[in-house]
Amino acid sequence: MESTQIASNGFISAAYVVAAVFFIFSLAGLSKQETAKRGNLFGMIGMAIALLTTIIDPRVSNVFVIIIAMVIGSGIGLKLANKVEMTQMPELVAILHSFVGLAAVLVGFNSFYDADHSLVLTATQQTAMNIHLTEIFLGIFIGAVTFTGSIVAFGKLSGMIDSSALMLPHRHKMNLAAGIFSFFLLLGFVNNGGASPALYIMTVVALVFGWHLVASIGGADMPVVVSMLNSYSGWAAAAAGFMLSNDLLIITGALVGSSGAILSYIMCKAMNRSFISVIAGGFGTEVVVDEDKDYGEHREVNAEGVADLLRGAKSVIIAPGYGMAVAQAQYPVYELTQQLINKGIKVRFAIHPVAGRLPGHMNVLLAEAKVPYDIVLGMEEINDDFSETDVVLVIGANDTVNPAANDDPNSPIAGMPVLEVWNAKEVVVFKRSMNTGYAGVQNPLFFKENSQMLFGDAKETTEQIFRAL
Ligand code: NDP
Repeated sequence: MESTQIASNGFISAAYVVAAVFFIFSLAGLSKQETAKRGNLFGMIGMAIALLTTIIDPRVSNVFVIIIAMVIGSGIGLKLANKVEMTQMPELVAILHSFVGLAAVLVGFNSFYDADHSLVLTATQQTAMNIHLTEIFLGIFIGAVTFTGSIVAFGKLSGMIDSSALMLPHRHKMNLAAGIFSFFLLLGFVNNGGASPALYIMTVVALVFGWHLVASIGGADMPVVVSMLNSYSGWAAAAAGFMLSNDLLIITGALVGSSGAILSYIMCKAMNRSFISVIAGGFGTEVVVDEDKDYGEHREVNAEGVADLLRGAKSVIIAPGYGMAVAQAQYPVYELTQQLINKGIKVRFAIHPVAGRLPGHMNVLLAEAKVPYDIVLGMEEINDDFSETDVVLVIGANDTVNPAANDDPNSPIAGMPVLEVWNAKEVVVFKRSMNTGYAGVQNPLFFKENSQMLFGDAKETTEQIFRAL
């Protein structure tokens, strides 16, 4: 090898290591709200180094084409980022995961067509070829599952597809059969030196499998699906890294894959779900929903009434949910919080781990509105304090404050830990109607004696209370 090429390879490897270190710092930064901005910055620097290094790599040809693709991609990205509302973020993340899946499928087929399968190989070369074929097969399999799974997740999160679980008969057996069949296709593919239709058949099976896997996971379990697809997209990228012999892509894919897996585990723990049962496509979610159940009467209150309640309170907890994000009510909520604190009232926020539509959704909104971090508490930190609280304001939350999770074993959200807001003296629920939340189940909280409904858009009603105070 020429000395200049060795030097350039050394430079590229070194630059990749630097980029990988930035990615690790980025993940570390993203783990806390206070350092999240810095974490994002590290991620951007790492990505810039990675892109530049890949482009200047002498093995890369067609730089012009890459630059055109980057300009088009950046243009679309910038436009989307400016246009997409915070409430549409989960859908955006899901559709971006599908691109990673599709990219892995395309890289896989590209590597497959690139290799010359007609050569007569020595034993060592044969082993290397078998490994390469296995990489191609697995890369395409993971990519295809991620691709269709993410499209279904996108549909469910954006409301284009019904968010309830698709319950086909024998669905677990079908999933298992798809997995076993794909394994035998892998054996056939590798044993025939890549010269068999197994790869194409597996691609179709994996596309259907990914679609079915996510379609059969129901409403309230969707947070786990989002983080799980995040993890799959990481493994798909790592598989692409193996096929392209790109170390940085392998490292980055592994980082995304493992952090997504850890997040899925944390989500499952927070929701008291078994990870296996969720990823196996809603295994054990057969529930009976009694739609005709009589919950009793609910009480209504207006903004002046809530202002009166707040005037007499010493301690207030605000439990925000998806509706706060829809209404963009975080800014008036912050102003109301300041007003109450100035009146000597103790105000805190109670954050459920799956409130909203993204992990950390509420924390991001509250940070955006400059709510101090020290009054924003997680469910475990605050759940015992509701009984000593005068007023709880439930702002656009529903499933995450549903007592049926504790009391009704037949409920689709049974067993999920929830914010026990009903233990407070008074509860005010801000929403526009008596409609259900994301999981599609009625909420007995609305009919409790100490609950009152404040109907209307959460931003408007919060502003009305602010003025009334
Ligand atoms: P929910 O989705 O259960 O309920 C939100 C409530 O907000 C609705 O009942 C709605 O009632 C109300 N709402 C909507 N718009 C407004 C508005 N403009 N003003 C006032 N109220 C409004 O919210 P939660 O946050 O409690 O629960 C999150 C759910 O989403 C859970 O089931 C979770 O599993 C799921 N999920 C979470 C993800 C995550 O990562 N966090 C990802 C995917 C799903 P109305 O229409 O009557 O106004």
